[in-house]
Amino acid sequence: VFGTPSKERISAIQKRTGAPVYHVEGPDDATLPQLLQSEADKIEILAVFTHGIDADLIGQFPNLRMIANYGVGYDGIDMRAATDRRIVVTNTPGVLDEDVADMAVLLLLATVRGLLPEDRLVRNDGWRKRQRSQLRPSVHRMTIGMLGLGNIGMAIARRLEAFGCTILYHTRHSKAVDYDYHSDLNAMARASDALIVIIPGGRETHHLVDAGVLEELGENGYLINVARGSVVDEPALIAALENGTIAGAGLDVFADEPNVPSSLRSADNVVLTPHIASATPFSRDAMADLLIENIQKFLQEGRVITPVRESMDYAQMAER
Ligand code: NDP
Repeated sequence: VFGTPSKERISAIQKRTGAPVYHVEGPDDATLPQLLQSEADKIEILAVFTHGIDADLIGQFPNLRMIANYGVGYDGIDMRAATDRRIVVTNTPGVLDEDVADMAVLLLLATVRGLLPEDRLVRNDGWRKRQRSQLRPSVHRMTIGMLGLGNIGMAIARRLEAFGCTILYHTRHSKAVDYDYHSDLNAMARASDALIVIIPGGRETHHLVDAGVLEELGENGYLINVARGSVVDEPALIAALENGTIAGAGLDVFADEPNVPSSLRSADNVVLTPHIASATPFSRDAMADLLIENIQKFLQEGRVITPVRESMDYAQMAER
């Protein structure tokens, strides 16, 4: 087990899989070199609860057969190193969608309607000094550009459709949905009042939201990112927020977590959360259950329930 899950989670993995479990907190854990020296060849499965593991670490386990990732996003796992050795990688899709979607909508509403500055105004006794309320945009009248329309993107879109919003989307392939597809991200940003980012991180999507996309989103536009910090060019976003190129941003994810640039922390037109979109007992328990079920199936049947796309070629699939 790699990372810092609770003791209960570690003991659940041990109990439910029946496998001996070693635990290291991460790449800097002082016990890691010792473990690698004495036990590396015994370890066949890594349960990953950190942001990921690199090629070097994967290379240190000569008998590794499976990496079970706690989370949907596996951009922190070196997939080339894993696929080269036909190591099966699993993730936990589909079980956290509703909670992550709630968080995206919360960030949108809070950012657009100025929840945090208005809350501060009341707390700081500024209300009696204010002559009239600051008017802010109506979320229900907004056109929302979804960058990504997978499991979570659909859960967000369904919520915002119920609000009365118009939904557009950009993905690599169009989907069988009633929302308008935009093959060009810049054109979608131009047509949107808010852009919601919910695509995987990694090389392919690195800085997909750049200065040009933010320019198209425009001075009345909002950016919400619940995907990965790497998808957005963070310095370009900071500049856009400072210059009024866009109106505001709601961010659950950042380029270099947990380091958040001071210019974002001090900005009034942003709402920041520390990568907690799936952080409810319901979602986190469901993610842990799915991780464990994948390991159980792998040990008992050599099959897994939710292999990631790159492992599909050689992973044997099983029903949940
Ligand atoms: P899915 O795989 O179900 O959906 C991914 C979507 O992104 C699809 O619509 C896909 O469509 C689109 N997409 C993928 N690559 C590109 C690309 N290069 N350009 C445009 N669109 C692309 O994933 P989920 O909805 O379950 O999760 C999405 C991401 O959200 C995760 O990968 C994870 O990183 C992040 N996440 C963040 C959480 C948080 O705590 N903040 C919690 C959970 C997930 P197509 O294939 O047609 O391009």
